[in-house]
Amino acid sequence: VLVDNGDLTIGFDVGGTSVRAALVAPQRGTVGPVIDDVREGDVLEQLAATYTRLTDAAALRPVQVLAAGVAIPGSLDRRTGLIASAPTSLELVGLDPGTIRLGTVGTVRFVNDANAALHAEQEHGAARGARDVVGIFVGTGVGGGAVVGGRLLIGSVGVAGEIGHMVIAPDGPCCPCGGQGCLEQLASGTAIARRYRQRTGRDVDGARDVALAARAGDSCAIEAFHRAARYLGVAVATLANLMNPEVVVVGGGVAAAWDLFGEDLTRTAMHHTMPLAARGLRIVPAALGRLSGVIGAALLASSPSG
Ligand SMILES: [Zn+2]
Repeated sequence: VLVDNGDLTIGFDVGGTSVRAALVAPQRGTVGPVIDDVREGDVLEQLAATYTRLTDAAALRPVQVLAAGVAIPGSLDRRTGLIASAPTSLELVGLDPGTIRLGTVGTVRFVNDANAALHAEQEHGAARGARDVVGIFVGTGVGGGAVVGGRLLIGSVGVAGEIGHMVIAPDGPCCPCGGQGCLEQLASGTAIARRYRQRTGRDVDGARDVALAARAGDSCAIEAFHRAARYLGVAVATLANLMNPEVVVVGGGVAAAWDLFGEDLTRTAMHHTMPLAARGLRIVPAALGRLSGVIGAALLASSPSG
């Protein structure tokens, strides 16, 4: 039940295969109905239709939508303000978010999905209260971001925090980003499933299937998670030495299998982290699950500085 009488924001999270959306009250997180649809057709048309469904549902109560935030797997060029990359939504590339209208909302803000998820975890989730935070989101790919002294790290062009493209093994697999041996190629859900397929010859849909096999005692499935955990641990140690965060949040779809890799990840990370940086460092699974991108996009859209 909606009890707020204003200051609501709509958050969207446009994934490769899904569009999620919800009304968000900045002080409380999501309120009211959550929409989780399959991606279809033009992204902007789907956003507009989703917006209408949410506001129609909320119009039963006194609600005022002030802003909308859209999380995308991509980036904005901070120099031009234009959407610079969106590999799963190519129709957005080159657009000026300032020209996009959704209903009566004055501002539509586009943000990187991992940055949005990290911001949400810092405001309402596993990193609440921390001012120096690193987020790693392991799904079909690996996304990431960093909050330094309470502010999201953006970088000169806008692609800071691409933890998935940290080089972990210079001779490793080539990556669509143009690099080689990126963390994403070694520790994403896609990489976990690929490792399992290579070693067993068995076909699996994705890391979820490998997690099921691991829980049933399949040693090759357990090894695939251990291997990814070690690469993630090396990445966490490097980030801990570089950024000295209080908290490292590990989220994304694969984080649901935290029981299968959290311990290995933490042990490896602590082994490679300098003692001073390791002191007080917490490595924790994300708390907000599938809605972190939605919540973060909404929060960033409603905050003037973000
Ligand atoms: Zn890469």
